[in-house]
Amino acid sequence: MRDSIYTIPISEVFEPKTECPICHLFHILEDRCVEYITGAAMMEPDVRIETNRSGFCFDHYSMMLKKRNRLSVALILESHLDHIFSDVLTKSGLSSFAKSKSPAEKSLKSCYVCDTVNSVMDSMLSNTFKLWEKERDFRKLYSEQKYICMPHAVELINRAQSQIGKKNIREFCDTTLSLSRNYLESLKSDVTSFCRSFDYRNANEPLNSPEIKNSVERSVSFLTSKYPSK
Ligand SMILES: [Zn+2]
Ligand SMILES: [Zn+2]
Repeated sequence: MRDSIYTIPISEVFEPKTECPICHLFHILEDRCVEYITGAAMMEPDVRIETNRSGFCFDHYSMMLKKRNRLSVALILESHLDHIFSDVLTKSGLSSFAKSKSPAEKSLKSCYVCDTVNSVMDSMLSNTFKLWEKERDFRKLYSEQKYICMPHAVELINRAQSQIGKKNIREFCDTTLSLSRNYLESLKSDVTSFCRSFDYRNANEPLNSPEIKNSVERSVSFLTSKYPSK
């Protein structure tokens, strides 16, 4: 059950073509992990041991609070706070020869959801490269994406250096770069139109296009992989 919730066919991730497919994958995994942690996993002691140790980052505590009632978050916190009290925020938990490896430092940087999602993403990206090399149809589907956001374009191009064969690497990098640059070009133009719409000379022209209206949020999302909440 635990691993199967993170099984998603790669083609399904690339099929919608509505946003960066890697962001799309991240959101699906993140959503499933938070759902699981605050639901079925509440009854699984081995998962609780892991969440007691890792805790969560601010974004994922916030997601858990939005998704579920406060009691399920409180039950997770009850044993996590116990762990922090007895093993982390203590004299020995704070001292270590290598400061960055002290239990307290490690606890501040870890998050059960981030760690789980990153590890699943890692193996799914490796499989994406394999699929892209092996299957013509998937290569076509990849080239038809709406765009690849900047952080994921950088990550894909970096990883491709060691995960895609020499004869194909150029095609993969060129396709990824054009997916990002073409979208960037349309974003630039939409942001310019957004700025111009505030000019008094255009005061009588209503801002009708949704692309122009949300161009600021879309730019932030392209640059950071995160969509700002309104
Ligand atoms: Zn992305
Ligand atoms: Zn997190």
